[in-house]
Amino acid sequence: MAYNGDVKSARPDDPLRGCQLCPRQCRVDRQAGARGFCGAGAAARVYRHGPHYGEEPPISGTRGSGTVFFSHCTLRCCYCQNYPWSQDGRGEDRSETQLGAILEALNARGCHNWNLVSPTPWLPQIRAAAAPLIARDIRLPFVYNTSGFESIDTLDAYRDLVDVALTDLRYARPETAAKASLASEYVAVARRALTWFWNELGRLQTDDDGIARRGTICRLLVLPGHADEAIDNLAWIARHIGTELHISVMSQYTPVHLALRRDGWNRPVSQAEYRRVTDAAEAMGFDNGWIQPYQAAASGEWLGCEMPAGEGAVGQ
Ligand code: SF4
Repeated sequence: MAYNGDVKSARPDDPLRGCQLCPRQCRVDRQAGARGFCGAGAAARVYRHGPHYGEEPPISGTRGSGTVFFSHCTLRCCYCQNYPWSQDGRGEDRSETQLGAILEALNARGCHNWNLVSPTPWLPQIRAAAAPLIARDIRLPFVYNTSGFESIDTLDAYRDLVDVALTDLRYARPETAAKASLASEYVAVARRALTWFWNELGRLQTDDDGIARRGTICRLLVLPGHADEAIDNLAWIARHIGTELHISVMSQYTPVHLALRRDGWNRPVSQAEYRRVTDAAEAMGFDNGWIQPYQAAASGEWLGCEMPAGEGAVGQ
């Protein structure tokens, strides 16, 4: 699927008719049953939802992040630990009323926020689902939890669904992004998206209890054999955003899915590779954020591949 960049013209009134929600710009009519690269249809598809305790501390807090894992991702990462729903489409279709009920239940359970994981193909449905709640004064901060593969036009159009950005920078070389995620444009696209988040939201702001209210967190998942790209991205952030950005450096890469059969991707990150990245972050002066302790791979529990669909807490 080719990328056509951000096209402002010829957008239909209904974004699902001629879908251009992400940079792939498939222009398929999802209302008529057509499917683009991500495979998303007309009804929002949800794999799992519940309070999540495995995010960064200001997101999870003490009562959990009200997380909704959406099916059908706009990337296709060979190592995706969520591939049963992100790529294979596992999940249940939810009407706007049902999705609204999920958001309301997360609020009623005391979650700190509405954490939308891979929301891009579903933004119109999410907005429609949340609107009646917001009209009743039920409103949690939206955490926009994304790979970073975002169209600026879409971010502009759905600015109301973005209070806290939890966004990735995965690669610094287009050829790596093409090979690992079928997205050669990822580097330019994700850096542009991070810049948008930073300009719109600024640095992370928390309340008196340390819970995120607004702002930007950038995740850097260190990939085996590609520590240099994480360091390049840190240098890019230092140059173009600033070292006051909250970063989250992650060691949890786990070879699953297609990565199990790919040379170079079929091993965890080594401690030495990870150390190079964390040392670089320190040397560049990043003071805000989190550095995950080194772990050779995520635990099976964290992967969530065997979690049943439907309601339930995750990451506990
Ligand atoms: S959200 Fe899905 S259908 Fe729409 S442009 Fe992106 S990949 Fe294509």
